[in-house]
Amino acid sequence: MPHEPAQRFRGPVLPDGEARDLYVVEGRITHEPQPGAETVAEGWIVPGLVDAHCHLGLDDFGATDDAATEQQAIADRDGGALLIRDAGSAADTRWIQDRDDLPRLIRCGRHIAATRRYIRGYAHEVEPAELATYAAQEARNGDGWIKLVGDWISRDEGDLAPSFPAEAFADAIAAAHAEGAKVTAHCFGHGVLPGLIEAGIDCIEHGTGLTEDLIDAMVEHGTRLVPTVMQLDKFPEHAAAGAERFPAYAATMTDLYARMPATIMAAHEAGVPIYAGSDGGGISRHGNIAGEVEALVRIGMPAHDALGAASWRAREWLGVDGLEEGASADFVVYDRNPVEDLSVLRTPACTVLRGVVRGVVGGR
Ligand SMILES: [Zn+2]
Repeated sequence: MPHEPAQRFRGPVLPDGEARDLYVVEGRITHEPQPGAETVAEGWIVPGLVDAHCHLGLDDFGATDDAATEQQAIADRDGGALLIRDAGSAADTRWIQDRDDLPRLIRCGRHIAATRRYIRGYAHEVEPAELATYAAQEARNGDGWIKLVGDWISRDEGDLAPSFPAEAFADAIAAAHAEGAKVTAHCFGHGVLPGLIEAGIDCIEHGTGLTEDLIDAMVEHGTRLVPTVMQLDKFPEHAAAGAERFPAYAATMTDLYARMPATIMAAHEAGVPIYAGSDGGGISRHGNIAGEVEALVRIGMPAHDALGAASWRAREWLGVDGLEEGASADFVVYDRNPVEDLSVLRTPACTVLRGVVRGVVGGR
């Protein structure tokens, strides 16, 4: 069998930042020196970035065709996101998993929302009595996760309100867990959170409505948080758009946004594990996990924590290898230390996915 020559990558390796040589042999990492290895790149080596909240196959109007979805996935990959935890898609994106050139993908099926209580064309829109059935169905359709829309504007109430009664959520969480899937939910406001956390939800998306007691409950239950700060930065736009018809909603969004940095940082400081999600494909563009790392730092997270939230800690959470012996060679090389200069995250010197190197300057 013809063997490809071993490849050597040299430089400080995060998270510890210790300088060493990393070898890639037939797509896998080894730390054993390989005589005759060719040095491919030198720089700061980071385990493949993770976008923990992203939507492949979705744009403003619902499902995208496969060609558009492919471009989204390529943009994410070239931005360094080599592992994506999808947070709801109206398209069937299983085919991405057959493509070695596209990021690893953990799908969660389609969003499940209350009838007429979410962006049109995105979700299964269901009544409370159907919620558990749909949760079980999407649990079987996904790769170990489902996504609920926890709250949304209620036009009747004129404000953010839980999508379903707490008992319906609890039944849905139990139904998904019975299928072996974890559950996450879109939650902007406060009201929906106590019931979800108490019912054992695995993760909260956005989480702007968290309060100190709920943060303590998350720590106790081991609930994770993916804030998507770039998405939260759009709250003033939501408030402005709703100001005339829904003044209470506008006030809620304005208040949540004013407290957002303190809320997310209180969760971080209390020990709630936080991961980086760009929300690409929802309202944001794809390929911008770097922007979310910068946003986490902007609200007060130390840079090493923020990068870990988009790399090694997220990989561990999602059960995907880092840079250990024998792992698939999935990593990114940067010319500078991203912990000291986050801007370098926007211009990887190269990405390595399943051992395939892309973007070496002056390449081979
Ligand atoms: Zn989203």
